[in-house]
Amino acid sequence: MAGAVTVEQFCKKYRDEESCVDILAALRWGNGFHCSHCGHNGATVMTTRRLPLYQCQACRRQTSLIKGTVMEGSRTSLHKWFPALFLLADPDSSTNAVQLTQILSVTYKTAWLIFHKIRHAISCADAKQLLTGLVDITFSNYNHTNYWKESSQPQLNQVPFIAGATTNFFGEVTYFKLKQVHLPSRPTSREPLDVDYDRFIMEHVSSQVRNPNVYKYENDFRASETLRLFCQMVTDSINDRYFGVSPKHLQAYLDELCFRTINSVRPNRGVVRLFKMLATTATITYKQLIAPARMPEPVQFAA
Ligand SMILES: [Zn+2]
Repeated sequence: MAGAVTVEQFCKKYRDEESCVDILAALRWGNGFHCSHCGHNGATVMTTRRLPLYQCQACRRQTSLIKGTVMEGSRTSLHKWFPALFLLADPDSSTNAVQLTQILSVTYKTAWLIFHKIRHAISCADAKQLLTGLVDITFSNYNHTNYWKESSQPQLNQVPFIAGATTNFFGEVTYFKLKQVHLPSRPTSREPLDVDYDRFIMEHVSSQVRNPNVYKYENDFRASETLRLFCQMVTDSINDRYFGVSPKHLQAYLDELCFRTINSVRPNRGVVRLFKMLATTATITYKQLIAPARMPEPVQFAA
């Protein structure tokens, strides 16, 4: 099997727009052009612009290569998007938006937006993927003190999340999910929080799973060891790379961490999967990204 491709090799291969166009077209339309209006397969390609424009030979409607993808509306060239995508998916990379600014020679806002749009594609793909088979669910906290002023009450620095995993007969985890829990206020006792596991199960576990195992205490020894270890590394993994993230954007970083971890078992698997997601996910705008988070209904504490 071929070894992992390095970022240098990758950037050399996709060094200009021309080299990126064919791969993106192949990812969008694996079996050749497909008109989203009439379904026709033939198109006339116009190459007078930066990116090719496809005109359907039946209905004559035009579509650009990046319409309907995460890159739609972006003025940043494809050969800058490609390394960003590689760096976000590569398990050996620890690039954050500040470093991406220097690598791509773009503004911080552009680098931040590119990474968040890629995370949006990851979150969309995760939303369609339910936990199946043997499912373990537990609870843990992300500690964001690197980002926020440390509070005299340690629990105020923590953001709770529910962690779920699909495990196989050998206890190996084949899929992870981490979902932030929104609490109206934090209790001061050391009692476990009665977070809404039912909602998590409804939204993220296949209805074919009859009895998911729910462990309500943090670090419960009965839960899958891999899942417990994963929960324990969440804070360090995110803070080492991003120096702490705000609760507002935490969910996107949790989804990214799950994606990276699941795909780290094989070289470049994450990169390949992420390219496919990027080419087939509608974009999110800067305005939508910075809009106030829509919180779910508050959960109830145990009586
Ligand atoms: Zn058409």
